[in-house]
Amino acid sequence: MKNFGLNIWGDENFIIKNDTININYATQPSLLQITQDIREKGYKGPLLLRFPHLIRKQISTLFNTFDEAKKEFNYQGNFQAVFPLKVNQFPNFVHALIDVSKNYNYGLEAGSKAELIIAMSKTPLGAPITVNGFKDKEMIALCFIATKMGHNITVTIEGLGELETIIQVYAEFNKHSQKAISPKIGVRIRLHSSGIGIWAKSGGYSSKFGLSSTELLEAYELLKKHKLLDYFWMIHFHIGSQMGNIAPLKKALREAGNIYAELKKRGADTLGAINIGGGLAVEYSQHSHKQDRNYSLKEFANDVIYLMQDIAKRKGVEEPDIFTESGRYIAASHSVLVAPVLELFSQEYHEKGLRLKEVNPPLVQELYDLFNSLTREHAREYLHDALDHMESLLTLFDLGYIDLEDRSNTEILVNLIIKKSIILLKDEDANELKTLQDRIQEKYLVNFSAFQSLPDFWGLAQSFPIVPLDHLDLKPTNPASIWDITCDSDGEIGFNREFPLYLHDIDVSKEEYFLGFFLTGAYQEVLGMKHNLFTHPTECLVEFNKDGSYSIEKLIEAQSLMDILDDLDYDTNLIDKAMKKQIEESKQINIEEKRELLGKLYLYLSENSYLKTIQAQNENP
Ligand SMILES: *Cc1c(COP(=O)(O)O)cnc(C)c1O
Repeated sequence: MKNFGLNIWGDENFIIKNDTININYATQPSLLQITQDIREKGYKGPLLLRFPHLIRKQISTLFNTFDEAKKEFNYQGNFQAVFPLKVNQFPNFVHALIDVSKNYNYGLEAGSKAELIIAMSKTPLGAPITVNGFKDKEMIALCFIATKMGHNITVTIEGLGELETIIQVYAEFNKHSQKAISPKIGVRIRLHSSGIGIWAKSGGYSSKFGLSSTELLEAYELLKKHKLLDYFWMIHFHIGSQMGNIAPLKKALREAGNIYAELKKRGADTLGAINIGGGLAVEYSQHSHKQDRNYSLKEFANDVIYLMQDIAKRKGVEEPDIFTESGRYIAASHSVLVAPVLELFSQEYHEKGLRLKEVNPPLVQELYDLFNSLTREHAREYLHDALDHMESLLTLFDLGYIDLEDRSNTEILVNLIIKKSIILLKDEDANELKTLQDRIQEKYLVNFSAFQSLPDFWGLAQSFPIVPLDHLDLKPTNPASIWDITCDSDGEIGFNREFPLYLHDIDVSKEEYFLGFFLTGAYQEVLGMKHNLFTHPTECLVEFNKDGSYSIEKLIEAQSLMDILDDLDYDTNLIDKAMKKQIEESKQINIEEKRELLGKLYLYLSENSYLKTIQAQNENP
């Protein structure tokens, strides 16, 4: 893995130039340069970089690919799309999304009242809004208010109870008006076919949402009876997120297409759209032998258009508009989490750590000789000898025959011999060597929280591409595991022999080493949790100017210690007072010192909870 699988997951968004990973856009700045620019302004700890040009790219690719498919099949329906807010509701993301999608009539999808308020206030008038999920009377009333504002809004009925509420709110809102109004109405259908993978519960017969055929017929009668049939225009389904295989989607499309056609034939004249939900997968893999999806966007679009056309033709109805609510596909690539490595834990296994004596125990001396004379030809034999000697030496220690320095020399030498053998034998695909890699894996302590920034790694074992920001001209040789700074053993991305990650051997007391975590733009931010009270990292937009240069915009620093406590509803005034009192009443310090301590304390309280790196300490002695 020399390029860290960039050709698999990168989608040409990044490029390796000399020794750094760079943005493959405009003047192609390196992520390292951008990171250093921000750190020079005084922001340490992890950074979340957002790239609006990548949001634009995903939206335009989605629309262009469907447009091409429509042309190819001469499809008569329109293609429309909305962004499901649950995937990322952060204002810096949403504002950038609205800004870059102006030419596409792209809208927002809401699944809760708070999201609906974002949709109502941010979606340009005329662009579609869809509203899914469980709704109470108030939420439905909000949809009616949005209609009165002039929004193009569709409320999806998830169950018959909701339809009854809609009928009720419709009556209330139109009691006094000349001309009745209502949001457009959609119906989520309960599919017989189901999604696949960890998110399969979203689709399928036992799904949380949607109407069965019997309920659908009943809903149709109710809409007709209450004169709401004219607003009924969308069929909706969503088979689950990160759909790796296209087969279940095809089944769902056939099912939904036939339901659409049957309803049209029954007299649902205004019915004109099929909303296929989200599910479009993102390739997260860094390893060619395990990829996350088996189709391209082009295949996906062609299947949707072809199947809908086929059903419409056979049943003699109009071709429906196609709606998508893909979220992961739009948002995942737009952000990169950059985090500094604080420490390499097993760097003590370095030749310079040896404490050899004038006269060493014979087996230690032999280990030293093995290490120095190791060649490719003898590597395997010497390796076995070394492992054997180690067992003997550890026994000698237990029996009191060698001292702690001898034992330390043993550990270092065996570690060095294993490392050297692995490099010498790298062309041989031996299982034994793979097993040994576990033994010499290097633990990288990284200044971030996996719970806050990669919750799907913790909850779903979802992997994210990891790439160091520089040294990419050198082959990384350390089998690596990554430790976050929470006090929780689940905050570790372990070394996995099947999908190994190798990082560089860096002395971080001498130079900085940053890791980039890619494709973190979908779901991770709002699912992130404040385990150990590590908060959302410092974030910013990286915008490109007309001349190709970049600028850092809308920088928001991670919350300060006091803000975090305030969020938990601590009375921060009381905390403040308590600490001040303890310093003032302390009998161990004089007035001068008290003033100094208070100054320090207030400085620390205004900072965030991530660690300062060694470099940062040097800058502020
Ligand atoms: C979650 C969700 C989506 C988005 O799914 P992605 O896999 O992120 O594309 C779309 N529609 C509905 C109804 C959803 O619940």
